[in-house]
Amino acid sequence: MIPLQAKPVVDELQKSIRQRIDAFKSKSGRTPKLSVIIVGENPASVIYTRKKGETAISLGMESEIVRLPESSTPEEVKAVVSRLNADPKVDGILIQRPLPSSFVEEEVVYWVAPEKDVDAFHPETTGRLVLGLPCFRPCTPAGIMEILTHYKIDPSGKIACVIGRSSIVGKPMAALLLQANATVLQCHSKTPDLRKLAREADILVVALGRAEMIDASYVRPGAVVIDVGINRKADGKIVGDCNYNDVAKVASMVTPVPGGVGPMTIAILLQNTIWAAEQRGS
Ligand code: NAP
Repeated sequence: MIPLQAKPVVDELQKSIRQRIDAFKSKSGRTPKLSVIIVGENPASVIYTRKKGETAISLGMESEIVRLPESSTPEEVKAVVSRLNADPKVDGILIQRPLPSSFVEEEVVYWVAPEKDVDAFHPETTGRLVLGLPCFRPCTPAGIMEILTHYKIDPSGKIACVIGRSSIVGKPMAALLLQANATVLQCHSKTPDLRKLAREADILVVALGRAEMIDASYVRPGAVVIDVGINRKADGKIVGDCNYNDVAKVASMVTPVPGGVGPMTIAILLQNTIWAAEQRGS
């Protein structure tokens, strides 16, 4: 079994992003900029936000973190996003999730202007993705496609099973695999006989949010398994949605948790940000 580690994939992506940033700076005379908005003090969100900013800066971008209090109203946050939408120095805007419960996700997804939607949440971006038009790529699913490319796993002509249908992972993942000419089975909590369907797959992508639920009995011998899950157990250990050691007995390749899919997300976010800057030109 080959573990599909993110590190070499991230290194390669970061090298290309750095080169594109340097080229953009020389051509336009300005530095691409990512703005991240965080509402409240959710500890995980604070860490993720800081990491995004630090990585952006390490690659030569400008990064700004806009911290807003938990008590901020949707109108106040929307006004900040509108200001950033209108700021010519800002190329990409990300609103860190989760937001406080007073925010309605179906409304928030429209706030960031489509041309600065580096997190790929805007319905226009989603529509472009499904239609196969140029667009910002949803960060986690696009990161998985980069892993497949790096490790020379071609989805074309294969059966891919995606377990999960969230807007952030499952649905865009299925769209990208379909575009790459896989035949896609999209499964969810109402899918009958999940195990049988999962065992059809040459490529099994698991984005459930259920710690270690998927064991070897869900995996076709020789299949490639991509574990998107990030779950913290009672003892503090981070595990995926797959039981790694059990799945590894039958799969040919598996992404470990941590170190597999997780590190890809920020790399794609920054790839989207330099693409935003390039599209806007100076
Ligand atoms: P989510 O919004 O909770 O969606 C979970 C999906 O799994 C839903 O579509 C749900 O079906 C399905 N599901 C739940 N239990 C199931 C079961 N027993 N059988 C079949 N399907 C079931 O989660 P998410 O945001 O997609 O995240 C999934 C996991 O990926 C989480 O562990 C999350 O932490 C992780 N994640 C990692 C990254 C990263 O690596 N950067 C990014 C995002 C998420 P229904 O639609 O029918 O409810």
